[in-house]
Amino acid sequence: MRSISILGSTGSIGCNTLKVVEHLGDIRVVAMAAGRNIKLFAEQVESFRPELVAVADEQAVEELRGLLTNASPEILHGEDGLIAVATHEKACTLVSATVGAVGFVPTLRAIEAGKRVALANKETLVMAGELMTKAATASGAEILPVDSEHNAIHQCLRGEKHAEVKRLILTASGGPFRTKSKIEIENATLEEALNHPNWKMGDKITIDSATLMNKGLEVIEAHWLFGFGADQIDVIVHPQSIVHSMVEMIDGSLIAQLGVTDMKHAIQYAITYPDRKPNVLDALDLTTLSRLDFEPPDLDKFPCLALAYRALRTGGTMPAVLNAANEVAVRSFLDNKIAFGDIATIVSDICDAHLVVPADSLSSVLNADAWARERAIIKVSESAAAA
Ligand code: MG
Repeated sequence: MRSISILGSTGSIGCNTLKVVEHLGDIRVVAMAAGRNIKLFAEQVESFRPELVAVADEQAVEELRGLLTNASPEILHGEDGLIAVATHEKACTLVSATVGAVGFVPTLRAIEAGKRVALANKETLVMAGELMTKAATASGAEILPVDSEHNAIHQCLRGEKHAEVKRLILTASGGPFRTKSKIEIENATLEEALNHPNWKMGDKITIDSATLMNKGLEVIEAHWLFGFGADQIDVIVHPQSIVHSMVEMIDGSLIAQLGVTDMKHAIQYAITYPDRKPNVLDALDLTTLSRLDFEPPDLDKFPCLALAYRALRTGGTMPAVLNAANEVAVRSFLDNKIAFGDIATIVSDICDAHLVVPADSLSSVLNADAWARERAIIKVSESAAAA
């Protein structure tokens, strides 16, 4: 029986991972961690009976203890707790599904320990792709993408030679504002921004999908996962989200992966790879699709995508700064402190002000991340004061 650990079990990917585990039937969850939703976490712990769990802080430890009646796992908290879950000696695979930078060090430790990492947390690769890919090469750890586009590309590249790939083509749904004007987008409300047309996801990624920063982060993620430069990674808008991504070969062949829009597919692929297993999803019925559309992204309406390409080309600590500034700006938008259009402005200003250094050590990455967060918080209060 295969054993796994999960970071972020109460989030969208975490809950879907547990459904996949239930379906597969031969996977044991030995360790799991969650953030704020202790009530749901307690239910998960009672059903899956992990040996070790971790929560955010001591208060959450007490809360969880109070809710558990049929399970008595070891309970840790804070970053040490996340690291203990991520590197649990019995787990061969870590599903890394926390949101944002909080999962970075624990995920890196799992890679250093040689675990397979089913990676849903793209922010960690954006921040520190160089460190993570070097650590994976050194330990032999595999990083299997759970992000649907990268999971699709992973499938398209099976058996292909790197030198015979012309470019990767990431598809983007275009989010809720694809057909809106620039002014409408800049002044969009929270409710409009959270209304994603195709995917049901957490708040942070849903806002990132509305700004297209999500696609920008995915371009950087693809660079680190597959080893292609910015000039070989393109984005194409595909509103139906049926083609999850494509690869163009040097002979002009396009290889695409199509499927229903349900993250359980990618999660199961990453856990069972290189094997495939039947899953619980409906098959994709092509005869019910009236059409598949494709169009180029509009970088003027969605400046975050251009900012991400620029950060990838600049390299060093710039992607970490882009990511941190974006996390703060998105949180502030979700808290109604800034306008939707301020997200791109804040990220752009902070990237402009950053003095890039190589991102070849944990301290340089964490310093850049902290610098950008501090600066973004100041920018948010300036924007809020001006509004
Ligand atoms: Mg994606």
